[in-house]
Amino acid sequence: MGISSSGQVIGRAFGPRVRLILFFLLTWLGIAVLLVFLLNEGRKEAEQKAPADALAATAVLEARLEAVLRRLQGNLEHLAASLPKDALQPAALGRYRDGVSAELDLITGLFPEIDGFVVTDASGKPLYASRRSTASPELIGHDQIREPTGVSDKSLQFSDVLVDRRTGEASLMVIKPVSGADEALVGRVIALLDLGALAKVFETVQVGPKGVVSVWRTDLSQLILRLPALPDQINRVAADNPLQRRIDAGDKVGTMRIPGMLDGVERVYAFQRVAEYPLYVASGLAVDDYLAGWRQTLWVAGVSSLLLFLSLSLVLIRLLRAENEEEFIASKLTESEARYRMLAENSHDVIWTIDIPSRRYTYISPSITDMCGYRPEEIVGQSIDSRLTPESAARLARDIDQRLRRIAAGDKSASVVVSEQEQVCKDGEVVTTEVVSSYLLDADGVAHTILGITRNVSERKAAELALRETNRQLHARIEEIGRLQVALQELAVRDSLTALYNRRYLDETLEREVSRTRREGTPLSLVMLDIDYFKQVNDTYGHQVGDEVLRMLAGILTADIRAEDVACRYGGEEFLILLPNMPLESALQRAEAWRMAIEKRSVTLGNHQIAFTISLGVAAYPEHGKTPDDLTRCADQALYRAKHEGRNRVCVFSA
Ligand code: GH3
Ligand code: MG
Ligand code: MG
Repeated sequence: MGISSSGQVIGRAFGPRVRLILFFLLTWLGIAVLLVFLLNEGRKEAEQKAPADALAATAVLEARLEAVLRRLQGNLEHLAASLPKDALQPAALGRYRDGVSAELDLITGLFPEIDGFVVTDASGKPLYASRRSTASPELIGHDQIREPTGVSDKSLQFSDVLVDRRTGEASLMVIKPVSGADEALVGRVIALLDLGALAKVFETVQVGPKGVVSVWRTDLSQLILRLPALPDQINRVAADNPLQRRIDAGDKVGTMRIPGMLDGVERVYAFQRVAEYPLYVASGLAVDDYLAGWRQTLWVAGVSSLLLFLSLSLVLIRLLRAENEEEFIASKLTESEARYRMLAENSHDVIWTIDIPSRRYTYISPSITDMCGYRPEEIVGQSIDSRLTPESAARLARDIDQRLRRIAAGDKSASVVVSEQEQVCKDGEVVTTEVVSSYLLDADGVAHTILGITRNVSERKAAELALRETNRQLHARIEEIGRLQVALQELAVRDSLTALYNRRYLDETLEREVSRTRREGTPLSLVMLDIDYFKQVNDTYGHQVGDEVLRMLAGILTADIRAEDVACRYGGEEFLILLPNMPLESALQRAEAWRMAIEKRSVTLGNHQIAFTISLGVAAYPEHGKTPDDLTRCADQALYRAKHEGRNRVCVFSA
């Protein structure tokens, strides 16, 4: 399997998310490994440098101490040699005191680190002393001038450290034994070395805040000087000092990493013997000090890498989330695209998109073939006006320009429009279409694309026209029916022979009018009339002539009544006229007028003039009755009276 194919296998095995996580983990791990390596190198370097630094410091200390001791030795030897042979004899003290003391003073003045000089006899008894000496003569007892053990070189001897109880100042006696002619000890010349001054010289060597500098005796493993000062530990004999063991083993110089003898602090120590003197100097650099810089770097690196890890994790989380969202959106997009494609491809309507700058189709759904005969590939890329009638094309171009201007001005409502266009089909036929166009805006509100739906509305248009015509006819029918209904209603309430209202209508109207009269307190009158001897007319001239007489009478009444009056055919040749708002007197006058009008008129039949008369009975509300029944009965009774009293007259009801 080649590298590329195995890469593909890995690519397939790990999804993009796992690869992303792996990438971040490896990046962080790489940085962490690099940091650990660099930090380790830094520590190693610091560890390696510490012994060299300690050695360098020790060398400086040794050089300074040696220089002091050499000068001191030179002067002590000079003093010992220059003392008169008998000056150490008690008898000669008086003779030499001034001279020797002056000499001691002179040399003392030359040494800032020397407190003074003392000359003793062999027993240690002070004979001469410089005046500047701060050491009390009692201090310099024989017990302090112990013969150092195990030291072959007896040129210089050293005492224990002497501490002045009053001032706390420490000094060390550096002793030069003076021999007589027989090599026997005759006295000592002693210098008092000011350890405070020596400490000041040592302080100039940098060993760090927790570093130490010390001076030890090699013969007794005794502490002489220590910086920082530890007064309690001065003169302490530390036989188990590992440095001492190295010295005892014969090492003149060396380094060791050990806990401090006196304070337990871990240090890298360097020691060095001071020339041929029974002393060695040691300087210790504390591990905490020389690793402080490295530890600070470690801390900064630790915090930085933690921050880096956190920020990388945040970036990773963001990326994973973004990828999740992207995947979600992509799946939704695919789903919605599939849905809309399915809709577009299966829709009876034609769905299309137009690129606005070029005004050309960029997509058109297959249903265009059903609508116009073109295949989609014949349309895509074509100009939009190539398939429209010239009028539609011009109108569309104007509309697009106008819409774009409105959209640019921020008018959101301009982005959707419904219009009607005439499309020219492949066979030349023109179809009327309804087009819904939606201007798709980008994030800046600029329209680049129009999404549209075109529907063939030719059939709908034809159907609309047909429907409109049907509607019109229907309306005409309805109007006719209305008229017929009115006529029917009229017929229902009219008498067919005379066209006057029938009795049913009168009953309803009378009821209503009596109620109104009662409510409003207005008058109301009824006139009932009957043709006199009508039976004879029928018998003599026939029924049809009788009918004609009835029609003529009705005509006279209709012509002579008010709009609100109701004239009706009450029975065969009986009529009743309802006169709302008319008092009895007026009704009487109206009845009399009708009687006279009938009397004057006649019906012409061939050569015959047929004249007839009528009798009338009048009743009024509220004088004669207050109900419809009472009123009609009263009018009927009045008519009966008119007949009885000779006919062709008007009678008012009287009880
Ligand atoms: P009077 O009223 O003066 O007492 O005498 P009259 O002859 O009119 O008597 P009556 O009222 O009894 O006669 C009514 C006649 O009217 C009877 C009938 O033949 C006639 N008649 C009723 N309805 C019609 C009709 O619709 N057409 C014709 N031609 N005659 C009718
Ligand atoms: Mg009658
Ligand atoms: Mg009659």
